[in-house]
Amino acid sequence: MAKTISAIRGTQDVLPGESYQWQYIEKTLLETASLYGYKEVRVPVFEQTDLFQRSVGDTTDVVQKEMYTFDDKGGRSLTLRPEGTAGSVRCLLEHGLYNEALPVKACYVLSCYRYEKPQAGRLREFHQFGIECFGAPESSADAEIIAVAHHAFERFGLKNIHLEINSIGCPECRAKYLEALREHFRKSEADLCETCKGRLERNPMRILDCKSPICGEIAATAPKMIDYICDDCRAHFEGVKTKLDAMGISYTVNPTIVRGLDYYTRTVFEFVSTEIGAQGTVCGGGRYDGLVEEMGGPHLPSLGFAMGLERLLMLMKAQGVPFPEDKKPELYVVPMGDAAQIAAAKYCEQLRREGFAALTDLNGRGLKAQMKYANKLNVGYTLVLGDDELSAGKANVKNMATGEQTQVALDNLTEEFYKIVMESAFDAMEVSVNDLGK
Ligand code: ATP
Ligand code: MG
Repeated sequence: MAKTISAIRGTQDVLPGESYQWQYIEKTLLETASLYGYKEVRVPVFEQTDLFQRSVGDTTDVVQKEMYTFDDKGGRSLTLRPEGTAGSVRCLLEHGLYNEALPVKACYVLSCYRYEKPQAGRLREFHQFGIECFGAPESSADAEIIAVAHHAFERFGLKNIHLEINSIGCPECRAKYLEALREHFRKSEADLCETCKGRLERNPMRILDCKSPICGEIAATAPKMIDYICDDCRAHFEGVKTKLDAMGISYTVNPTIVRGLDYYTRTVFEFVSTEIGAQGTVCGGGRYDGLVEEMGGPHLPSLGFAMGLERLLMLMKAQGVPFPEDKKPELYVVPMGDAAQIAAAKYCEQLRREGFAALTDLNGRGLKAQMKYANKLNVGYTLVLGDDELSAGKANVKNMATGEQTQVALDNLTEEFYKIVMESAFDAMEVSVNDLGK
């Protein structure tokens, strides 16, 4: 056999037996967002490198260390998207969506690419669900986007996810703060990591988000933005808190949250769990009032969040929340002989047209082997189709759970099978209604 090729480090396959979990997560998230007026946007996997440099910010870890950047055959520098906001803003501008009634609300499920050290909850290809709300300056918008994530966690039945919020002010009040930060970090400049030394003058706030333990230690005693925010930013932050309180969403103010990307202003937040190891931030987001303008668009105060789906799934498994069951095949038709195989193809296709998952033999196997296969697939019903059944025009549908057999007329198979399935569903309901009475 030829040598096999394995997957790239930091990537994961979703196997056929697990994909229903992903489908459930994605569907639930998109449905939740739609309750708040969000519509799905789909943007390309790669974009011009400039787009991410300008929007994510060239002093961030993402741009400095983590991007998958390459020249294509035409010599253009392209980058695999490390996140979804940049592409969404580009899409908004390119299609003039901001001319529509504001706010424009877009959501997405997408793969992201970051060259990071692979570990539990940290991959090189990972997936995010995100929302972007363009053109909404008021604090009610901040509270509402937080509510979307909160609502989704609640729908999944998740508990103990802590919401931490902070305000990192606006460019005006931040100028004073950045000076105070520089002063603080200059004192320990020699101990900072090389990347942070370069950040000291250009963007000292990035040092607060550095993952190096020494920088973290120096950052722990740094001045806090919350002590420097201006009256407008403070009032805005108070507005966010009041509305969260009104919606019954609890939070902690954590003055150390700054978020990893450059574009944030005012509100920043994270949903954090302690149950999935060191990479506990399941969702992060905030306001980015200047981003759209910086990307060449109008002044359009906007905000959003992104949720890491691998981390969400890890948390769901850690807490043992229920997933809806994967759909099982309803009927397996067991053909015995060539004529039966042709008839099985016909009957299965008729059943599928009515929405039943109907399977049949594709390997020319005998009765025993087919039944074994059907059992493995956990099918609801089987129907053995041989020459006798074909000439009689009748066959037995066997309920695999109860062993009960029901005769059906083959030329009316779909309708009669439908009745069998409905009756058994009805019986199951009666049982559960009776159970309720006990
Ligand atoms: P972290 O501090 O964990 O690196 P971040 O600030 O880089 O996170 P964001 O850019 O805000 O993360 O992305 C939003 C969410 O996407 C994160 O909260 C996390 O759940 C998820 N995420 C980010 N990077 C990865 C990764 N490499 N692998 C898996 N999930 C990730
Ligand atoms: Mg990161």
